Amino acid sequence: LSDKLDKALHILKGHGSITEVNVAETLKEIRRALVDADVNYKIAKDFTATVKEKALGQDVLKSLKPGQLLVKIVKDELTELMGGDAEGINLSGNPSVILMSGLQGSGKTTFSGKLANFLKTKKSKKPLLVACDVYRPAAINQLHVVGDQIGVEVYSDKLTNDPVAIAQAGIAHAKTNGFNVVIIDTAGRLAVDEVMMTEISTIHKAIQPQETLFVVDSMTGQDAVNTAKAFNDVLNFDGVILTKLDGDTRGGAAISIKSVVNKPIKFIGTGEKMEAIDVFYPSRMADRILGMGDVVSLVERAQEQFDEEEARKLQKKIAKDQFGFDDFLKQIQQVKKMGNMKDLMGMIPGAGKMMKNMDIDDDAFKGIEAIIHSMTPKERSQPHILNASRKKRVAKGSGTSVQEVNQLLKQFNQMGKMMKMMQGGGGKKMMQMMQG
Ligand code: GDP
Ligand code: MG
Repeated sequence: LSDKLDKALHILKGHGSITEVNVAETLKEIRRALVDADVNYKIAKDFTATVKEKALGQDVLKSLKPGQLLVKIVKDELTELMGGDAEGINLSGNPSVILMSGLQGSGKTTFSGKLANFLKTKKSKKPLLVACDVYRPAAINQLHVVGDQIGVEVYSDKLTNDPVAIAQAGIAHAKTNGFNVVIIDTAGRLAVDEVMMTEISTIHKAIQPQETLFVVDSMTGQDAVNTAKAFNDVLNFDGVILTKLDGDTRGGAAISIKSVVNKPIKFIGTGEKMEAIDVFYPSRMADRILGMGDVVSLVERAQEQFDEEEARKLQKKIAKDQFGFDDFLKQIQQVKKMGNMKDLMGMIPGAGKMMKNMDIDDDAFKGIEAIIHSMTPKERSQPHILNASRKKRVAKGSGTSVQEVNQLLKQFNQMGKMMKMMQGGGGKKMMQMMQG
């Protein structure tokens, strides 16, 4: 998925300007990439339609950086589609009962352990694991192994094969022994069938859990959607756990499941170890699906700070040779507003490594600002009037030397020349080079 989207977004990033034709082309590529990642065709189609509408609404083609704006719209929309903010788990019961559901092999037993460990270490809870997978003795042992690993008690009863009775006895055991969370691991089957559905729904009705979670292997693609729907029809579950996102991940499952059952994805599993659990953040998942690292947040930050109108005025001034020190000061202040220079550079893929050994600090601007502040308005707009005595006054006022003032004037002149050059077509080329 990432590769395909990369290609689609590259079409945009590579061009200094985009046209209606390549917006349409890119949206088509994005739709194709989503469908290839097992996102339901209709969902993918609706998705691109919404993006297109928003792009038109925001007049993407007229913005300074249409490609980046479109990328931002795509990302925002993807985030929205996977659910707004991260949602927690309902722990209001005493004890709070959490029921696991899902197919065999989806990762229920592993996730039960991860969640118990998470609640114990991060939320200071005292969880009890209950083994209700009565069909395979190995399943009960597996939960005991997990419990031993994380130091959490496991309640099991090999003498009965009634999962409802075990679940109820487990909850009673928790109440009398001071456990405040009960996590019930259940049996699954390889495919949705009536026996499994009847069993899980019987357990669900009998114990009335605070939280019912549906565990799904993110690598099962389109099937994941059908399974989620089947379980949701019976359980009306509260949230989804997406496991095995460490493998050959298909982000498509997250998008489709959320759209079809409209339940939040709460946690993700990213490995076999007990620590491989993460709270689900839609925006991070969108980043991951888009495979863009932190490029998107860089775009957002830049967008907040750079006023388009301001930039246009500046271009006019440069063209007319009216660019003065006041404008220069504004530029510096804008760059500074964007945040720490090193952080900023670090967000550009590839640039991070390059910048590691370079020393960029925000103080570099201090001397320059002091010098400019010591100039009169006339000197700022017409730097050529700065003669020897004026320079001396400026140096004294800013606590610098005439030499430093001269150096700034020299740099300023060079910059002016360069900016004029960039406007004459060279700029586009340079921007393209910078964007890779
Ligand atoms: P259950 O049948 O639903 O209880 O599934 P299990 O918890 O037994 O998990 C099935 C297999 O998937 C086991 O080999 C687990 O180690 C593995 N597994 C579970 N979660 C993850 C995960 O997030 N990442 C990876 N790589 N493997 C996982
Ligand atoms: Mg199991």
